[in-house]
Amino acid sequence: MSLIRRLAVITGGGSGIGRATCQIMAREGASVAVVDVDESAAKETAELCKQSCPKPDEAQFHSYSVSVANSKAVNDMMKEVKGQFSQPLSIVVNGAGIIRDKMLWKMTEEHFEEVIDVNLKGTFLVSQAAVKQMMQDGCKNGSIVNISSISAKHGNIGQSNYSASKGGVISMTKTFALELASHGIRCNAILPGFIKTPMTGKVPSEILDKIIEMVPIGRIANPEEVGEVITFLASDKASYITGTTIEITGGLWM
Ligand code: NAD
Repeated sequence: MSLIRRLAVITGGGSGIGRATCQIMAREGASVAVVDVDESAAKETAELCKQSCPKPDEAQFHSYSVSVANSKAVNDMMKEVKGQFSQPLSIVVNGAGIIRDKMLWKMTEEHFEEVIDVNLKGTFLVSQAAVKQMMQDGCKNGSIVNISSISAKHGNIGQSNYSASKGGVISMTKTFALELASHGIRCNAILPGFIKTPMTGKVPSEILDKIIEMVPIGRIANPEEVGEVITFLASDKASYITGTTIEITGGLWM
């Protein structure tokens, strides 16, 4: 078990990649704070974590209903986490994300701002609150994993808001890595391609079929295949990796 006595805050933990990551980290011995705007989904994930955890007496699982775009709610949540868990915080996964796809000429200012607020500002707010906590605790093996997207590198039709938000996440990751390395905190980003989650469930099946034809591995991924990479980056097995990006795309748009 690679994450014994570690505490992870995982946003977007109520669904898809975030939920799979919570369960995999629980399997690896971590305690998990499941953060999601969807309260019942976050609670359900915390229950699933208990089932995945091989030593339930040694790990804790709690859920928090918070929007990552709200700075007060994020800071309050981080204080609550500090009070509820016995382990100090050392892992953050910024997985909360939304899409509001529209062609440029149809996209409203609201669509643009909503996506930037959750995907980019949310990553900033959660990381900032967590890093302050980790520094106070004297954390020496911190790891932040930000979920970007292959859309950041390649662009994607209908996603000028989303690809910009995820491009910002990559730039911010590199700056976090520079600022935090001397404080014992690494920061990396992953760029998933097409993963089977409720988010891609919104893509019309004929479009998804065309995308799958372009994927060298010939299928879309399961969220667990992303969660395993996130868990590796969070663990001490990745102790010399910071400021980088890993594409998890089955070879798409490499
Ligand atoms: P998902 O829709 O299954 O899960 C996203 C979760 O984020 C949901 O539980 C949702 O309630 C939560 N969320 C949304 N807004 C929030 C907010 N303001 N505060 C807190 N939680 C909020 O999606 P997913 O596919 O698992 O996506 C997870 C991450 O991976 C996202 O950042 C997404 O952009 C990224 N991503 C996904 C894919 C893919 O193919 N599924 C590809 C590339 C990147």
